[in-house]
Amino acid sequence: MIYIKKNSPPKKFVEFVQKNKKAHFKAHFDDMPSDVKQILRESLLKEQGYLCAYCMSRINIEDKNTEQNTTKNKILNKIEHYVPRNSENELDYKNLLAVCGGNSFGNEEKHQHCDTKKGNKTLKINPQNKYHISQISYKPDGTIYSKNKEFDDDLNKVLNLNDDEGCLKQRRKEALDTLKSEIHKIYKDKTATLNFLKKTLNFYTSLNEKGELQPYCGILIEYLEKKINNWHK
Ligand SMILES: [Zn+2]
Repeated sequence: MIYIKKNSPPKKFVEFVQKNKKAHFKAHFDDMPSDVKQILRESLLKEQGYLCAYCMSRINIEDKNTEQNTTKNKILNKIEHYVPRNSENELDYKNLLAVCGGNSFGNEEKHQHCDTKKGNKTLKINPQNKYHISQISYKPDGTIYSKNKEFDDDLNKVLNLNDDEGCLKQRRKEALDTLKSEIHKIYKDKTATLNFLKKTLNFYTSLNEKGELQPYCGILIEYLEKKINNWHK
């Protein structure tokens, strides 16, 4: 999980919400026309660098026919209500996140993750809170955890981000191992320079030319930040 800074809501979405308010009609999320929902989805994905708000796996916009609700579309990416939806918050842009399909297709509930696993539970950890994100750590085997018990329960139990049979932990480990071997290739057994570490950190915290962040970048950012903080010649 990484920090998400919300942008302004897209114009078409704001217009939809305002139009419904004016008409004294309580707009519901599911009443949103497919073109507005698509613009909303694009906006959420953009501010998240096309990563799931919870597990940091890649999600994208390719499947446009979401209104048809084909199984495939449902699985690839979803719009999640961070606080379970009610009439007050269902159209609150700050409450909306783009998330992955959560391993929902043909998998048992115990191996599902992210919003699919979370269901209507309320999280204590919030990706829009920098302090919360600073409380997240990673182990070399890819495990995500927090010393804060409530946050750790969210990561493990509510979102199921360390499921042994799931691939998230393994993918985080692979991302970290790839970074470590890239550093090793350049510096062998010498210490990487501070300049190199900072440049690499900047790469993983910035959007690329496609507007994307790298999948599982959270574990890489933590690794590089620790290396920078402990750096000495
Ligand atoms: Zn996810």
